[in-house]
Amino acid sequence: MTDSQHRNAVAATPVGARRAADVVTPDLLARLTRDVPGTGRTACHAPLTGERLAELPESAPEDVTAAYERARAAHHAWAARPARERAAVLLRFHDLVLRRQAEVLDLIQLETGKARLHAHEEVLAVCLAARHYGRKAPGYLAPKRRQGAVPGLTRTRELRQPRGVIGMISPWNYPFELSVGDALPAFAAGNAVLMKPDTETALTALWARDVLIEAGLPADVWQIVIGEGPVIGASVVDHGDYLSFTGSSATGRQVAQRAAARLVGCSLELGGKNPMIVLPDADLDKAAAGAVRACFSSAGQLCISIERLYVHASVADAFLERFVARTRAMRLGASLAYGADMGSLVSENQLRIVTRHVEEAVAKGATVLAGGQARPDIGPLFYEPTILDGVEPPMAVCTEETFGPVVSVYRFFDPDEAVTMANATPYGLNSSVWSGSARTARAVAARLRTGTVNINEGYASAYGSVQAPMGGMGESGIGRRHGSEGILKYTEAQTVAEQRLLPMAPSFGMSDEQYAALMSRSLRALKAFRFR
Ligand code: NAD
Repeated sequence: MTDSQHRNAVAATPVGARRAADVVTPDLLARLTRDVPGTGRTACHAPLTGERLAELPESAPEDVTAAYERARAAHHAWAARPARERAAVLLRFHDLVLRRQAEVLDLIQLETGKARLHAHEEVLAVCLAARHYGRKAPGYLAPKRRQGAVPGLTRTRELRQPRGVIGMISPWNYPFELSVGDALPAFAAGNAVLMKPDTETALTALWARDVLIEAGLPADVWQIVIGEGPVIGASVVDHGDYLSFTGSSATGRQVAQRAAARLVGCSLELGGKNPMIVLPDADLDKAAAGAVRACFSSAGQLCISIERLYVHASVADAFLERFVARTRAMRLGASLAYGADMGSLVSENQLRIVTRHVEEAVAKGATVLAGGQARPDIGPLFYEPTILDGVEPPMAVCTEETFGPVVSVYRFFDPDEAVTMANATPYGLNSSVWSGSARTARAVAARLRTGTVNINEGYASAYGSVQAPMGGMGESGIGRRHGSEGILKYTEAQTVAEQRLLPMAPSFGMSDEQYAALMSRSLRALKAFRFR
């Protein structure tokens, strides 16, 4: 069958499926938006159908300033609570989210258009972060004894003070995980948060806030403002004591420049053009199934999804036969239920980029092995999972982030070549290596310039390992989420050193020369006794 004859099937819609109006009721909308400041009005839409989902309050720059003041006033009492009490809120939140997950799965699907299984990945990610910081935050934040300047005379402790109010800006693609998931460690560290979610996915962030308040977070500690980035983004950036930004590298650069002008720190989680390498000894069935997950989860609108696939020439045909068959067998669907393998794109803009990248590549000689078509018969923004072969510069899809369900296949002859091609990008977010030999895969992984590398999986193993840091090298970002780095970035390190018995100066009538000689002898002794 040629590709032009093949179309992905439509997942069956279950009888009695819920619709947007059943989910976003007037009561729910009033409850979620009650604390959003602003007299303006804006709206969010449901990509699955194109319908208007809800009317929302819109915040002006002065509303952002006032919300910062409320957050600042609430922050002190929250920071004064013992770390264990703050962490307990996260553990209660974990249980509430699991119990009420159907509510947020509906909202995520309605706001992003993604398949329910992919929405559930967000529930997993948020619960992993809530459990991790719920259990580990008190330890990460606890005062640590450090060796003093003069052992025995100087008693030194390293403290972790909250920064104050964190300004947080998040994108639309993972609206649950990239809003509350990143805010949880900030709260655990004793900060307040002022967040600007993407307007199109604000309801999911507002739901998370509502549930976190139910779990015990004081309401004013989490302020959410709604508005367009170019209109209120600067106000969010200009008042934060630290900034946490997730979005495109272009916007990240602007945020970093504004933060730098104020000498305020920031973490930036940005774009990627992530490579996957299939070595000749890989299990090809598993690699093909893994490639489907890695390339097409959330319709490829995932910062860590794979857009470049490097396959050893000796197994390329066998791998592609499996990968193409699995991709063509994917079922697309628009219902608020499990069953679809892929959902919709989020916006007309994303559909435009995906269409442009594929059409331009084909016009310049690339071949479509699967997909390559929009599917307005399913919903206004559906696009098929697409595999391209014969992609080369200067096709945009070769180097630019598509952020859609499009992957390009390249062949290589030895692993060195694969590593060189994988690293030949200004980005450095995520990568994936498939091999039957853990030793071989680890050796390749160590040479890849990406913040995370997954062996025999596409992205979920590294992202789900919340005790380890996750973030980007190069133009993919600055700083890390998860692990100790993911919470300590929301703190200021403070060293408190107490001097006892003798001062750090000549004493007991010692001359300067005698003091200098004593201290020099002490340094030699400390080194000899292996003090660090
Ligand atoms: P975007 O940069 O357009 O928008 C992200 C957020 O920034 C939105 O809330 C937006 O309103 C806001 N914003 C826009 N202009 C602003 C400005 N001038 N000042 C302050 N805020 C502003 O990105 P997007 O299209 O929403 O998201 C997709 C991008 O995000 C992709 O590049 C993707 O790779 C990246 N991303 C990265 C990660 C990660 O963890 N590295 C995760 C998800 C998405």
